[in-house]
Amino acid sequence: MRKLIIIGSGPAGLTAAVYAARAELEPVVFAGALAGGQLMITSDVENYPGFADGILGPELMARFRAQAERFGAQIHNVDVTKVDFSGRPLRVWAEDEEHHAEAVIVATGASAMWLGIDAEERLRGRGVSSCATCDGAFFKNRDIIVVGGGDTAMEEATFLTRFGKTVTIVHRRGELRASKIMRQRAADNPKISFVWNSVIEDITGDTKVTGVRLRDVVTGAVAHLPADAVFVAIGHRPNTEIFAGQLSLDERGYIVSADGTSTGVEGVFVAGDVQDHRYRQAVTAAGLGCRAAMDAEKYLEALESASIVAH
Ligand code: NAP
Repeated sequence: MRKLIIIGSGPAGLTAAVYAARAELEPVVFAGALAGGQLMITSDVENYPGFADGILGPELMARFRAQAERFGAQIHNVDVTKVDFSGRPLRVWAEDEEHHAEAVIVATGASAMWLGIDAEERLRGRGVSSCATCDGAFFKNRDIIVVGGGDTAMEEATFLTRFGKTVTIVHRRGELRASKIMRQRAADNPKISFVWNSVIEDITGDTKVTGVRLRDVVTGAVAHLPADAVFVAIGHRPNTEIFAGQLSLDERGYIVSADGTSTGVEGVFVAGDVQDHRYRQAVTAAGLGCRAAMDAEKYLEALESASIVAH
């Protein structure tokens, strides 16, 4: 029986682990097979406070992890496959092994979304990617397409100009969703151009990407745009499949929380992007991780006092 299990190892999960470990709750973190969360597929992080010169996403997460481990958090790179929060103890299955805990913090984050066209799957790793940091270097001096109009698309496109000959941002509307600074940075970059009001109907190529079939949503015109790579940067969906029927989810699948950390199930707390689709920043996720750990600590203290009184 564990006092606290933390599911997830992005900024939320690992901040919760730092706080919980320092509070001597001996947390076990199920970090996921692909540990570290979304910052593992991010390049420069320039807005995490304390790093005036910026830091690479994977390097930042390695530091979070080292800090949690320094205070005794046990971190395992395994996926949680099932949970049962209907009774006591709370039950969590990781790699089919059952674990019991008095409290759980859910910090499973969100994942990149895909366009949902067949070619995307067929050509993934052959020119189709959702991670510029991982795959950008394969496309030195090539023509690259980035899909999306948000901050992620601007960031990926700007990063990809380090490698690509050209970077074309394809957006389905005539206006970007991205913040002003990111928009401006992309617009000022001479390697970046924009294709507005257009959707990708298909990605061409048998064994590697040769281009995309574009449809102008205003005129209906269809055109082929040659390219060597397509980076999809169209947002995220929460990683909540295993919590369906266990925790209250909203219509987009995010965990509902009245105050940012409680889930409505006693002893189960939530933190980070799995609950927050508004801010979705590393620093806000870390803040929520801190709050969840402090709330879990209070809950465990109350549980312990109650059991002392009962005996
Ligand atoms: P986002 O803000 O939700 O933007 C997603 C973009 O993809 C939108 O422009 C959307 O178009 C487009 N899109 C969605 N589904 C599509 C589809 N099926 N086909 C074509 N286009 C599609 O997501 P995000 O860019 O990943 O950003 C998420 C959050 O993280 C934001 O709060 C952002 O500020 C933050 N973020 C911050 C930084 C940073 O500051 N360094 C970096 C990355 C992300 P519409 O505009 O038409 O909806």
